[in-house]
Amino acid sequence: MGRDPEPTIFELSQPGRSAWQLPTTGIPDRPLDDLIPPIHRRMDRVRLAEVSERDLVGHFTRLSHRQFSVDLGAYPLGSCTMKYNPKAFDLVAGIPGLADVHPAAPARCTQGWLELMVEIEEALCEITGMAAGTLQPSAGAAGELTGLSLMRAWHTAEGAPRRKVIIPDSSHGTNPASVTLGGYEAVTVPTDERGCVDLEMLRKVLDEQVAGMMLTNPNTLGLFEEQIVELAEAVHGVGGLMYYDGANMNAILGVTRPGDMGFDIVHLNLHKTFATPHGGGGPGSGPVLVADRLVPFLPGPRPVRLATDGSQAVASEAPDFGWMIPERSIGRVHSWHGNSMVLARALAYILVNGSDGLRRIAELAVLNANWLRVRLDGILDIPFDRPCMHEYVMSADSLQHETGVKALDIAKRLLEEGFHAPTIYFPLIVHEALMIEPTETESMQTLEALAAAIERIVADSRAPGGQERCAEAPYCTPVRRVDEARAARHLIATFDARSS
Ligand SMILES: *Cc1c(COP(=O)(O)O)cnc(C)c1O
Repeated sequence: MGRDPEPTIFELSQPGRSAWQLPTTGIPDRPLDDLIPPIHRRMDRVRLAEVSERDLVGHFTRLSHRQFSVDLGAYPLGSCTMKYNPKAFDLVAGIPGLADVHPAAPARCTQGWLELMVEIEEALCEITGMAAGTLQPSAGAAGELTGLSLMRAWHTAEGAPRRKVIIPDSSHGTNPASVTLGGYEAVTVPTDERGCVDLEMLRKVLDEQVAGMMLTNPNTLGLFEEQIVELAEAVHGVGGLMYYDGANMNAILGVTRPGDMGFDIVHLNLHKTFATPHGGGGPGSGPVLVADRLVPFLPGPRPVRLATDGSQAVASEAPDFGWMIPERSIGRVHSWHGNSMVLARALAYILVNGSDGLRRIAELAVLNANWLRVRLDGILDIPFDRPCMHEYVMSADSLQHETGVKALDIAKRLLEEGFHAPTIYFPLIVHEALMIEPTETESMQTLEALAAAIERIVADSRAPGGQERCAEAPYCTPVRRVDEARAARHLIATFDARSS
């Protein structure tokens, strides 16, 4: 593979070339104006690339070889759960009876899909300990906004919407963003020296204006919140609701449940925990599950089991499936029913693993993270050095003081070693943070290779010329080090569809 930049598909374009040709049908041509009134037609040409199938496949195959992916190797990107996903689940999602169904098809023609959606909702309720949920949100952040809308609807029905939502200072960036987008003021509480929410500081900010608290558990330090029941009691004490950011569910599957800890609203990231790799902005799914008292506010229409008289029925005695709009629904949060293929994969994943298998996933994810943590002890600092959950955070702070080599440099050198970089500079409360989530799908040999690579990089940064070598890495990737802030600061996002 050469280093030459791959031309864009438009640069490869040759007028008149195409990937396939259809035979003529013998049906006489009719002028377009007879078929579509000119007022409904665009008059300018759409600028599309004209390439042969050979060029098309070559182009995208070459690009795909320049990527790193979960299929290629270990991807220890903390907080993202980038685990290998067995191909069988893609096969399930591709079954024509699922893949070729239009979302507007009437319920009597789509009983299979409705059953699938009802079943996955029931499974997710069982896994989280909640009463019911919505499958509509397209990803974690969309689930957060849905959850906050439910919070607002609940408090409004109780008399006043309230103003504030509490988040820990270690929270995922989407949490403060969703709080703001949801029309609330974000109030941050600090982390204590154990790496958990400071309960006393939380008590100080609680009042009747607090609509609720959003909590990630295990938190972004990879630690299980030790006083989670007390936190929930304190927030409930002022009439607030507890929101569980369950993007990290991979750590606790089958072991414990947010519902049992006193949470009112939970979102899951199916694209992290339950099949469907999500690198590169692929489709996601962020179902929101709620406690009994919030069920009437859920988005609609909801897939439900129907009794023979058409009313909503309970459990498996119902013969049929249909749609219903909850009594006080906040409305739709998706144009259709959610990213359905992600739902199909997730249900297959849950059924194939079964409850024992799901628990084993969490146990191995936690074991792998702890194995790496202990293996790398003494190589880099570990600020909260005690048994972790599915991930843990290291710090290159003292290495930087000693050698000038930063967390960013270590991440770039890892790319050369055949590993995806870990999450860096997050959570914000750890200087020079490297957040490692190996996941359960990596073997002992891979974990050892990753640890050895980090060890080599740290050793090399102390060797003569080490800082210079690190500062320029990566050397052998298709793209060398990029200026990561420039794209955000000088955004150029134009596409002129009219120029042909
Ligand atoms: C990934 C993640 C999110 C956001 O999920 P998206 O699907 O990326 O929108 C929220 N919270 C935590 C803790 C996460 O890890």
